[in-house]
Amino acid sequence: MMQTLQGKTVVVTAAAQGIGRASALAFAAAGAKVHATDVNEAALAGLSGAPGIVTSRLDVLDEDAVQATFVAIGPVDVLFNCAGFVHSGSILEMKDGDLDFALNLNVRAMVRTIRAVLPGMLERRDGSIINMASLAGAPKGVPNRFVYGLTKAAVVGLTKAVAADYVTRGIRCNAICPGTVESPSLEARMRAQGDYETARAAFIARQPMGRLGTAEEIADLAVYLAGATYTTGQAYNIDGGWSI
Ligand code: NAD
Repeated sequence: MMQTLQGKTVVVTAAAQGIGRASALAFAAAGAKVHATDVNEAALAGLSGAPGIVTSRLDVLDEDAVQATFVAIGPVDVLFNCAGFVHSGSILEMKDGDLDFALNLNVRAMVRTIRAVLPGMLERRDGSIINMASLAGAPKGVPNRFVYGLTKAAVVGLTKAVAADYVTRGIRCNAICPGTVESPSLEARMRAQGDYETARAAFIARQPMGRLGTAEEIADLAVYLAGATYTTGQAYNIDGGWSI
């Protein structure tokens, strides 16, 4: 059956660019009323006026702002936690503060938003929570991604824990584990390496399909999970064959 999210309210974090932005557009195209949030208001402005989408600034590191945003939005059917940051480097190369920052943004922010929406979802005995993990982390150890892999593995753990606690009460909670996907931050990471073409070739080389993924391909999975009624606690690899 074709996915329809008609009448559903969806909240997306980190929706100003990349996978979050593509997902906000895809949720809206599927009929949902989408609240696209991001800390970067200037970038978020690119979505304002898009049919079915309302934008608002939300820094997911700010507990009070998270609470206030979800009170203002009211009942939420689907929460897509997309915010995350990639630190490069091994355990010995990790800089002071990297781990705390990444735990706060990549993991605790999801705990904050889930705690904000879950009571309402439980009252209605219906809700889909989608958390952005990565192929790096639980599915696969990836070189040079110690902090990132650690925190993204924690996302899979928190996803399964929430799924297990509320499986009988109408709540579904799943994670998405993408391979390498074209996005503004990936572009920035490739440029930061100095030799852009070599960096890009290296990212493509780890994808057996011979290309990077698109944000729209990941968004399609997010839309599927928003409406999928018989799956919970799963971490979905969507990775161009990286995990084969
Ligand atoms: P991106 O990294 O280009 O953009 C991230 C967005 O997050 C930006 O709009 C930024 O303003 C927002 N953001 C940062 N801090 C925030 C905060 N405190 N509160 C709210 N928003 C904040 O986008 P992307 O590369 O598509 O990554 C999105 C998610 O997908 C991340 O969690 C990332 O780890 C994950 N992911 C990306 C890839 C990839 O290859 N691009 C692969 C696997 C997983």
